[in-house]
Amino acid sequence: MREREGRGWCQVVVGCQWGDEGKGKVVDVLAGDVDIVARYQGGANAGHTVRVREREFILHQIPSGILHPAKRCLLGNGLVLDPLQFFEEYDTLRARGIEVEGRVGVSWRAHLLLPYHRLLDRAAEDRAAEKIGTTGRGIGPAYEEKVGRRGIRVVDAADPERFSALLEAGAARARRRLAAMGSTGACGLDGETGRCLELRERLVALGTDTGREVVDHLSRGRRVLLEGAQGTALDIDHGTYPFVTSSNTTAAGAATGIGIGPTRLDSVLGVVKAYTTRVGNGPFPTEFGPAMDERVRTLGNEFGATTGRPRRCGWFDAVIVRYAGRVNGLTGLAVTKLDVLDTLSELRLATRYRLPEGETAEFPPDTLSLEAAEPVYETLPGWERPTSAARRLSDLPAAARRYLERIEELVGAPVEMVSVGSRRGEVIRLA
Ligand code: GDP
Repeated sequence: MREREGRGWCQVVVGCQWGDEGKGKVVDVLAGDVDIVARYQGGANAGHTVRVREREFILHQIPSGILHPAKRCLLGNGLVLDPLQFFEEYDTLRARGIEVEGRVGVSWRAHLLLPYHRLLDRAAEDRAAEKIGTTGRGIGPAYEEKVGRRGIRVVDAADPERFSALLEAGAARARRRLAAMGSTGACGLDGETGRCLELRERLVALGTDTGREVVDHLSRGRRVLLEGAQGTALDIDHGTYPFVTSSNTTAAGAATGIGIGPTRLDSVLGVVKAYTTRVGNGPFPTEFGPAMDERVRTLGNEFGATTGRPRRCGWFDAVIVRYAGRVNGLTGLAVTKLDVLDTLSELRLATRYRLPEGETAEFPPDTLSLEAAEPVYETLPGWERPTSAARRLSDLPAAARRYLERIEELVGAPVEMVSVGSRRGEVIRLA
């Protein structure tokens, strides 16, 4: 990561497919070089899996920078923070010997995701004629309340009486909505929602102005990493609507979701898997047939970190990643899980789509076109050799280098990092 004299450096790390690109691993590698790691959107549905030596950590809300000693980790205003899950994660990290005290800050402006949001999420998904395939963690309903101006924020927890009254009112509202949906979920203050009251003081103790912290650090010449969850195709505006998450996952959302201006962002690193995966429903043009799907799912251990759901797998889709390059303003690429392709004799890359009205190299805005899209493939030879020990580009077989070069050409952004295994050290850094 370069540094601009006297101005610090602010880098965004953004997923460029349907999420699960391995952002957790990439952030973990980069976090060693920065002072702050901050998350800017999403909730507890985004499980990042990070392996440090032989220990595996699954982080849902706390940035993976927490696994590096002394880094400050922030959760921005763009998140919907689930206090129960958050403190469970916080306490688990502490119990596993990670020093968390004084290192985690939560934006006063972040909205709270409360137990009744989970009940609403499940009830709505159960009733939906067309399922979004949500994780049922309450993310959508929490963002609905935020945008509907009924949300409860971290700052609201500062006053115990007001907080209690807001929770009571929120739970009552949820009960009415649940009843209208024919659901009988209990969400009074005597249950899980009440536990949020017990966590009030701990939550308030972590309150901060995340934008201000980031700007202060940058003006002192320090480095900051802003970390997104999910991926570009799941962005509420730019993704495959309605099969999307409820926030802006793309790079511009990093500025809004932390509380800084877009002119503060210096670089945007797009994380892409060397193939494609997707969890949940919705169109997926390069999806494998059943045999290949099973093979790559097993090789890549493609099961959701939070839900255990099997991920759908497919070939690398340059159409979507090129689109991600544009909407995120990518300055570089991190290609992950290259090693998963080690045993394949040939590889395909989708360069464009064939639609009923002709060929296109553009990612279509409507889901129906995407459903109709037939990928046009280019085939490259596989390398059929292990790559996990590679630490320099020249350690990789020529066919693997060619594959990466072709991705660079098709996407129009330079590869700055290649991940060749799940462990921290299994990486090739080019920038
Ligand atoms: P994220 O949410 O984008 O961080 O992605 P996940 O954590 O859900 O999924 C990434 C998974 O791939 C995790 O289990 C990682 O340990 C693993 N992983 C990351 N990079 C690599 C890699 O280069 N090779 C292999 N084999 N696994 C990787």
